[in-house]
Amino acid sequence: MRVLVVGSGGREHALVWKLLQSPQIDALFCAPGNGGISKLASCIDTEPTDVEGLVSLAKRERIDLVVIGPESALAAGAADAFDRVGVRVFGPSRRGAQIETSKVFAKVLMERYGVPTASFETFQDYTAALDYLRRLEPPYVVKADGICAGKGAYVINSRGEGEAALKELLVDKVHGEAGKKVIIEGFLPGVETSYLAFTDGSALLPMLPSQDHKALLDNDEGPNTGGMGAYAPVPFVDKDLEARIDDTIMKKVVDGLRKEGIVYKGVLYGGLMLDGGKPYVLEFNARFGDPETQPLLFKMESDLLPILYACAEGRLASAGPISWKKGVALCVVAASRGYPAKPEKGKVIRGLEALEGLKDVFVFHAGTKLVGGEYYTAGGRVLGVTVLGETYGDAVRKAYDALSLVEFEGMHFRRDIGRKAFGP
Ligand code: AMP
Repeated sequence: MRVLVVGSGGREHALVWKLLQSPQIDALFCAPGNGGISKLASCIDTEPTDVEGLVSLAKRERIDLVVIGPESALAAGAADAFDRVGVRVFGPSRRGAQIETSKVFAKVLMERYGVPTASFETFQDYTAALDYLRRLEPPYVVKADGICAGKGAYVINSRGEGEAALKELLVDKVHGEAGKKVIIEGFLPGVETSYLAFTDGSALLPMLPSQDHKALLDNDEGPNTGGMGAYAPVPFVDKDLEARIDDTIMKKVVDGLRKEGIVYKGVLYGGLMLDGGKPYVLEFNARFGDPETQPLLFKMESDLLPILYACAEGRLASAGPISWKKGVALCVVAASRGYPAKPEKGKVIRGLEALEGLKDVFVFHAGTKLVGGEYYTAGGRVLGVTVLGETYGDAVRKAYDALSLVEFEGMHFRRDIGRKAFGP
């Protein structure tokens, strides 16, 4: 099978790495890819939002399956375009991707189909929003409707903060169109988990529950980032809770979307808050999470390709269940100085060869470039050192030992990835 992966991050490196192990792979392309991916797949310099470019690439290379990584490609209508020309695609249509690209769409869908989430109100008018907000007792959360690179959610602890957030979004329009509508929702206490499932629009095949670390600094301090590390499985989600998440959230959403005329094919990613064993939805993503994908695929025993193809063909019920390697998979992200605001670039990366061949260790590349045989930093998140350990402690030790062998000027990483697995 000839496969094209769209995207250029650590998530796409993990997808390429895993797909390459499939006995069914004949050729593997990535658009645009990165330094690490270029060692495994043919990288083609086409951007994820260049839908026409992607379609002509798929035709030229006689691609059998396109796997879409980033939401930008989904929002640009890449899956719809492949559908129109009859190329099998893993990733939802633009309408389906609204579950991620519009918080209002996601909230209304959840309300209509009885999916547990925080109560909410939607506003477009600053004065009306302000009026409503002045009647609330903090804490609560103000969110922009659209995608704001992880900066669209404001957890509010005082009325002043709430008023400032509304002004930023609705008056100063710091997020432009994405902040034209806002929602104000109740604060949910608890512990967060990421829950990803494959779906063909009817059947669901859940992956293991995982946990991301969104804040830049240890103890969840500092600004929000794309994600500084992740691990799977999480010890606080047992089989009963998984079944509850499937029944009360994932199935209801996929069925609800179908009733709305959307056959959702791809990954449905629930960002969940678990409160006293009850799951609530914070947000949905319409694609694999980054960095959750790195530990999840590192731990997956099953062949990924037939699962993705079954989703694209609408016959996921015949696939699965997924088998997993024993142990704990964990990924620590190394980022550039200045990330997330203004990351430095162009620094030489040293020590990677020391990690080659280490058992149960792999470095997934995100913002890297291969020039003249050397890797250079080329973005905010640079590397995702990913390991498989026997226990949580073993995985943490292994990941940080491996990371200590790598360096680039200004390298920054969190030192507490996986800590929540050991208890509050
Ligand atoms: P979101 O973009 O909706 O995932 O929100 C970003 C982060 O804000 C989440 O990962 C949570 O840590 C926090 N958050 C969002 N909504 C809520 C909520 N209703 N209650 C508590 N925390 C929230």
